[in-house]
Amino acid sequence: MEIEFLGGAREGGRSAVLVNDELLLDYGLDPATPPQYPIGRVDPEGVVVSHGHLDHAGAVPALVTGDARPPIHWTPSTRELAMTLAEDTLKLHGGTPQCPFTDTHVRRVTQVSETHGYRDSFSVAGHEVTLFNAGHIPGSAHVLVDDGETRLLYTGDFHTDDQRLVAGSRARPEADVVLTESTYATVEHSDRSQLEERFAESVRTTVWEGGTVVVPVFAIGRTQELMMVCGAHDIDCYVDGLGVQVTRQLRRHPDFLRDADALARAKSNARIVSGADGQRRRIADQNTVILTTAGMLTGGPAVTYIGEIYQRPVNKIALTGYQVEGTPGRELVETGSAELDGRMLPVSAQVEQYDFSAHADRSGLRSFLAAYEDAEVLVNHGDDCPGFAERLRADGYEARAPELGERVAV
Ligand SMILES: [Zn+2]
Repeated sequence: MEIEFLGGAREGGRSAVLVNDELLLDYGLDPATPPQYPIGRVDPEGVVVSHGHLDHAGAVPALVTGDARPPIHWTPSTRELAMTLAEDTLKLHGGTPQCPFTDTHVRRVTQVSETHGYRDSFSVAGHEVTLFNAGHIPGSAHVLVDDGETRLLYTGDFHTDDQRLVAGSRARPEADVVLTESTYATVEHSDRSQLEERFAESVRTTVWEGGTVVVPVFAIGRTQELMMVCGAHDIDCYVDGLGVQVTRQLRRHPDFLRDADALARAKSNARIVSGADGQRRRIADQNTVILTTAGMLTGGPAVTYIGEIYQRPVNKIALTGYQVEGTPGRELVETGSAELDGRMLPVSAQVEQYDFSAHADRSGLRSFLAAYEDAEVLVNHGDDCPGFAERLRADGYEARAPELGERVAV
């Protein structure tokens, strides 16, 4: 089997892996400015998408430009999320050189889409493929690829612990080669129930003291997870931004949720904001909790809310995940100020950060790989892929971190 790394090698973002020149796994973009796409030109016979995040599915419509019509295989949830992301990318960049597709191509994706459940094998470009729950977001999959000689397990992004929204990854199908993500290879997450308690306690305290809490969340996964956390801890909240639409979509596929009823209850506990800025200002004046995109303050209604609440020390901004270097969220954590909507805001409100990660941490990655001690391990999708590969080698694995553009025979 030949594996070519077109993106996501020794980096996060824009994942794309070509197997035997025919089968493409993921086609993501890195939402930097300008957005970064996988390298080279690719003309696959078939495509499998591991999950509906921008860095894995964001560039998929570019695969059906020109005469190319490769079938695109994914779970029903991944399909819905990928379509939403594509429409959002068109809104942000459509018609510019930064966007390699148009709404025609986005519509065309629906004509070549083929959806599958977990553990139902299917054939793509001469390969047998099976998807397994990866426990990252609804519909996320480990992708097992068999070309008749070699079995490759592409982990995609995964989490081994249960989240409220999705159950953790349990399947460990036999494989000769494992291509693993390594996002949190050097981090240990705190215990999830303790993290939830800390979050709930802090949010409640601010509300008792008469403050407003803004909780920046990603649209996909994090909005729903935090809605469920608030619901479970009897915390009333507003929900605003793209996550509202995503919640509706995810509820259409209850088989890919851990507990569809719990999500339904969480949604009925939350108050959905329909979206005028006047309404947002009135909500920001209340003694309440607001879950809103964007998770790293790169845009969205979060910017409007923070513009209303930043001056009062009784208010709070509770970030819910890792903040990438160069984002306003990171700037806020490091300096106490952030440039939002072109204004530099010195933030007097309290700023806290909670690690509601949807990725396996160091122990999670190692417990997953413990099932593959005899397999060849390839490491991608992380800040320090060579470092993780080196530590695996020290523990007896045959492991390496291919470079961008590299072609590996396994
Ligand atoms: Zn992801």
